[in-house]
Amino acid sequence: MRYRPEMKKTNNNLFLERMRSPDIAAAIAEGTSTVIVPCGAVEQHGPHLPMFTDAEHGTHLGAEVAERLGNALVAPTIRVGCSEHHMTFAGTISLREETFRAVCNDYCKSLSRHGFTKICMLPTHGGNFKPLENMLEKLKDTAEDGCTVVAFTDLIALVETWKEAVEETSGLGDRVGGHADIAESSLMLHLHPELVKEDDAQQGFTAELDETAIQKIINNGFHTVTPNGILGDARGMSKKIGRDCLSAVADLIANYFREG
Ligand SMILES: [Zn+2]
Repeated sequence: MRYRPEMKKTNNNLFLERMRSPDIAAAIAEGTSTVIVPCGAVEQHGPHLPMFTDAEHGTHLGAEVAERLGNALVAPTIRVGCSEHHMTFAGTISLREETFRAVCNDYCKSLSRHGFTKICMLPTHGGNFKPLENMLEKLKDTAEDGCTVVAFTDLIALVETWKEAVEETSGLGDRVGGHADIAESSLMLHLHPELVKEDDAQQGFTAELDETAIQKIINNGFHTVTPNGILGDARGMSKKIGRDCLSAVADLIANYFREG
């Protein structure tokens, strides 16, 4: 049966934390060899989106990817990530990189002890990509023998996939900027319409996100580049764009994990 967001509450054979231990043991014995670890964030997402946008995106994207792989479960999403650059916005919670590394490390250690042979780290928050890339070799060492760890760390490919999907669906691909933009806003409108303040959708930073802008974000904070917390433009969001973005990125990442 195809996974749909509204099934999240009832799909008890995809999310590890919803299953009973004997069923997990049986699934592993019958060939469920892969486990996906979504790595989200709880941080500002402009004036219109909820704090848990990246965490929720991770859970749903994880399910979409697991479904495509066919032999995979989804581990509990690591909901808080590396968000220091968003800390000037109220409510943001951030893990230090060393804390995030320690959590990922212990996830991999635990999951590999149960017989999964592949652990797929799936970041849905920009600030988690580099730390995951940096820690990947260590995670591989940490996992038990016979278990490999892979991580999707190509943030540019993810944003490009959003651009293509948004352009194809609406002709508004140039509004994708990577944070609280038309793509992420549409994703939330698809997953949690009750939590999106559509009327507050605005344009944010829309110039090219070059190395200078990236360094400014890292060194001085997100607000110095985009006072309203948006990279790109949130206007024009729709549920259809959200569904298409979720599906296109799930295809991209499932292919990556299949080959990795
Ligand atoms: Zn986000």
